[in-house]
Amino acid sequence: MGDRWAIGLDLGGTDLKSGRVAHDGVLQGFSRRPSRTAESPDGPFQALEAAAMELRGSTQGEIVALGVGVPGPIDPRSGSQVGRTAHLPEWQDTPVRQWLEKRLGLPVAVDNDANLAALAEHRMGVARGTRISITITLGTGIGCGIIVDGRVLHGGWGGAGELGHIPLARGTTECACGVPGCVEPEASASGLMRQARERGLEDQSAEALFHRARLGDEEAQAMVEAMVDRLGATVATAVNILNPQLVVVGGGLAKAGDTLLDPLGRAIRRYALASHAKGLRIEPAALGERAGTVGAGILAWERVTRPVAASASRES
Ligand SMILES: [Zn+2]
Repeated sequence: MGDRWAIGLDLGGTDLKSGRVAHDGVLQGFSRRPSRTAESPDGPFQALEAAAMELRGSTQGEIVALGVGVPGPIDPRSGSQVGRTAHLPEWQDTPVRQWLEKRLGLPVAVDNDANLAALAEHRMGVARGTRISITITLGTGIGCGIIVDGRVLHGGWGGAGELGHIPLARGTTECACGVPGCVEPEASASGLMRQARERGLEDQSAEALFHRARLGDEEAQAMVEAMVDRLGATVATAVNILNPQLVVVGGGLAKAGDTLLDPLGRAIRRYALASHAKGLRIEPAALGERAGTVGAGILAWERVTRPVAASASRES
C-alpha cells in the first residue's frame, strides 16, 4: 500500500496517452483516448482531467504529482503554452499548469511532448549515459528534444529544438508556421500523405507508403527518398550545431524500422560535417509510443523531488 506514483499524460493532436509512472520510471495502466484538440479550448482539458481522474481511481497508493506533454513550446517556468501550434488549434498562450493544478489539487509539471520523449530516452532508454543527445519524434510533424548533461535544453522561453521549421524546403508548399521555405511540409509524414493525395495514390498512411517502397514500388521509393533527404538535411543541421553523440528516432513513423532508419542515416551523414558524423550514433527509440507518457511521469517526479525555486534559478 505504500506505493507512490506520478501520473503521466501525453497530449497529442489526435490521441491522449496516459499511465502511472513509478519513481524508477516503470509505467503501468497505459491507455489512450481522443485528445479532443479541435473541439473547443476546453476539449483537451476535459480529456486530460478525465484521464487523470481515471488513473486516480484505479491506483492503489499515493499520487504525488502529474506531468503533461503538450505538442508545442511550453515555458518551463510558468508551465504555459507559448503562442500557438497547429496541433492545438483552440489554444493560445494557454496556462496549462495553472489550470490543471487548480482542478486536480496536485503539483503539475508541463513540457513539450518531444522534450519529454527525449527525457524518457535519456533516463530509461537508448540515450542513457550520453552527454548530449537529440530525440526526433516523427508523427504528423517533426518534434525534437535536446538533452544536454542530463537536462532538457529549453532555450529562452521553451522554444528550443523546433527543428521542423527551418527553411530547407525545395518546393512551394507553405507551412502554417509562417516561416518562408519551412521544411516540414516536405520532410514529414503529413507532407508525404499530402503528396500521395495529390498524385491520386490510395495509401492510407505514411507507413503504408514506406511499406510499398520497401517492396520495390518505384514511385513510392522516389517519394520516400525525397522526403527522407529533406529530413536528413534538417537533422544534420542540428547535428552540425550541437554535435550530439546520439540521434534517437521515435514517433509513429519510426515503426517503419530500417525502411526509414537506413535511408535517414545515409541522408544525415550526407549533410553532416564529416567530423560530426564520424562518431555519431543513430538509433531507434527504445520506448516507442510510450516515451512521452513515461517522460511526463519522470518530469512530475522531478517536480516534487527537486525544489521548484532551485530549478527555476538554474533555468534563468
Ligand atoms: Zn513550419
